Amino acid sequence: MLTQNLGFPRIGANRELKKACEAYWKNEISLSELLDAGKIEKLKNWNFQQEQGIDLIPSNDFSFYDQVADLAFMLDVIPNRFHSLKSNLSKTDLYFALCRGYQNNGFDVAPLEMTKWFDTNYHYLVPEFTIDQNFKFNNTKIVDEFIEAKEMGIHTKPVLIGPVSFLKLGKEKHSDFNKLILIDKLLPAYIEIIKKLKTAGATYIQIDEPFLATDLNNDEIKIYKRILHSLFNNISEIDFILTSYFEGIEEHVDWLKDLPIKILHLDLIRAPKQLDCFLDRLPNTITLSLGIIDGRNIWKNDFENSLSIINKAIDKIGSHRIILAASCSLLHVPYSVNYEDSNKGIPEIVKNNLSFAKEKIKELHILNQLANYKNNSSVKATLLNNKEERLKCKSFNVFNNEEVISKTIEINALKTSIKRSLNFEERINLQKHDLKLPLFPTTLIGSLPQTKEIRQKRNLYKNKKLTSSEYQSFIKHEIKKAILWQEEIGLDILVHGEFERNDMVEFFGEQLNGITFTLNGWVQSYGSRGVKPPIIYGDISRKKQMTVELAKYAQSLTNKPVKGMLTGPITILQWSFVRTDQPRKITAEQLALAIREEVIDLENAGIKIIQIDEPALREGLPLKNYKKNEYLQWAVNCFKLCHWGVMDQTQIHSHMCYADFNDIMEAIINMDADVISIETSRSQMEVLDAFKSINYPNQMGPGVYDIHSPRIPSVEEMCDLLYTASHYISIENLWINPDCGLKTRNWNEIDLSIKNMVSAAKLIRSAIHTPTLSN
Ligand code: GLN
Ligand code: ZN
Repeated sequence: MLTQNLGFPRIGANRELKKACEAYWKNEISLSELLDAGKIEKLKNWNFQQEQGIDLIPSNDFSFYDQVADLAFMLDVIPNRFHSLKSNLSKTDLYFALCRGYQNNGFDVAPLEMTKWFDTNYHYLVPEFTIDQNFKFNNTKIVDEFIEAKEMGIHTKPVLIGPVSFLKLGKEKHSDFNKLILIDKLLPAYIEIIKKLKTAGATYIQIDEPFLATDLNNDEIKIYKRILHSLFNNISEIDFILTSYFEGIEEHVDWLKDLPIKILHLDLIRAPKQLDCFLDRLPNTITLSLGIIDGRNIWKNDFENSLSIINKAIDKIGSHRIILAASCSLLHVPYSVNYEDSNKGIPEIVKNNLSFAKEKIKELHILNQLANYKNNSSVKATLLNNKEERLKCKSFNVFNNEEVISKTIEINALKTSIKRSLNFEERINLQKHDLKLPLFPTTLIGSLPQTKEIRQKRNLYKNKKLTSSEYQSFIKHEIKKAILWQEEIGLDILVHGEFERNDMVEFFGEQLNGITFTLNGWVQSYGSRGVKPPIIYGDISRKKQMTVELAKYAQSLTNKPVKGMLTGPITILQWSFVRTDQPRKITAEQLALAIREEVIDLENAGIKIIQIDEPALREGLPLKNYKKNEYLQWAVNCFKLCHWGVMDQTQIHSHMCYADFNDIMEAIINMDADVISIETSRSQMEVLDAFKSINYPNQMGPGVYDIHSPRIPSVEEMCDLLYTASHYISIENLWINPDCGLKTRNWNEIDLSIKNMVSAAKLIRSAIHTPTLSN
């Protein structure tokens, strides 16, 4: 059997590529130094995979920023606003301008938009298509990389996002048309790329069509069939590998089987059941790539289970028609477990069960050996050892907490009664009375600027150079300043500023049992930015109160209500690597129970408004429609579990920082938060359409300040936005707040912006009697 890899992390074992890019952007290193840094990373990865005996090693999986931006650049899909830059910038700088925008020498060009890559936390750049879009092979990155590897003696398999997926990843700009009409213009450019690769000596080419695994309509399926046939038929002597991932593709077996491809890849982690259908139906000209190693999670492979799948496939179609692979590109897992140290945090037994990108490549090789030499004694020993480690992990008592387990079972028995005692209309009257809120209450989303000083103090504290009480009193001092500032500018509901939090998930994760953190488990989030997702390995419970002391302190400084701030269970789940020995739903319920304890404690401490942020609720939505409801049901239930049992006077807020609510509207209503805040300013309140058509019943704060940009919005601008919002949300239900937390902005900016926001609130209150607003 052969083995293949679909893609390798490119940020470098110690984030070398991040450092090089950022140094280049700051003019600290030259272009050739940057290119060299990239080359070093590529070579390390290729060499490693070759040493491990991987047969099909990818190239063009590397990128200085993003693989979708690379392809847009390669096909000359560069929006008009960049044209004036073309004569002024080098190719590389133009590429970075596309990714990061360009503000220099009198130019001010906005970058491509960014959005999430399917259901991952990786963000790609969204290509922009115009109705008269042309495509031409503008840049030879994919060919150059193939040659680069070839010169080092490594014959790679270039990876290319397929033409249909490329169009589907982008957006129509300027006019109303369906981007798929561009497919016939795009196809010749693809044929040209592939011919160039062939001339350079490529024999295998991997075409990624991840949209095959999503719901497609009949027109889209027709386009897929026609385009893939003509693409693959147009070029002879190339072995095409068609891949898709994150879901199953068995509904397309009828036409996939007729494609002139050499290898078809299946994600058998997300969709194991699809295997049988392909084993039965594929002709003997097509080899099956079994994606049996989880490319989205960090646990060791269960060899016994994988072997049973491999053996079944061998029995059916023979080992010559099987190739072993991870379920998807390894971009979504960290580099290597070797950088972790169990003396510094991660429990030894957890560490022994981890497998990051490098280890997964090794696992592929081991699985191949295991399948080939079943009766060899060292093979048997490997298998036994794998089984033992996994068992140890399961029975290790830290992982299981009987109390948590029985509580989750109890909760499930209660199901329908998990709701607040009064309905919204009755609750809100009590709350209005208690909180004495004005019309159009003003508030912030939570965080205030994380200054250099705050980060420095946190580092000192982490490195034990500050005592806990020194650090606490520093944080309290910051809170005091923040409360005074908010009172002075006249906000109605205050926040403490979240100065003590480095990250909204990490902060809670560190205070919960069952969650651990890596030292170097970085995963690319976008461009040079990485995240270090927590690892949820055991039953979740709260170690102690997490936010109460500081919330109480903040509230003691003012007569205005201060919000208690929590991260919701779905967001913690979504932004972590999660255990796989129980359904995600159960882990989410455990998280919800822990957050609920904190909610109750906050309430007992006299906090009258509690905000439970769920910015990641939407991204957990399954790719296939038929699975969406089930997810939304448990996700919403977990949110309700968090505020279950609070007094009706206590006001529950939630915050969601994304814009697309169309397919989750019902779920948002079912969450039954008294007030939600959402991102709306960048889309000029367009987002609210979804809320209008469904008549959102509770209160809402549509963001009026785009915190992703250093711009200071004017009073007039915010009034305009609020005026637009008043067409969608009744005036009594409207709150005034920014799009998201202010952590990434600086004090000068927010002082001006938030003052303008409060002025806008005052203006709009005084205008309330004018006929335009009141009808
Ligand atoms: N309360 C958080 C903050 O203000 C919310 C962040 C988020 O939505 N991502 O920072
Ligand atoms: Zn947000």
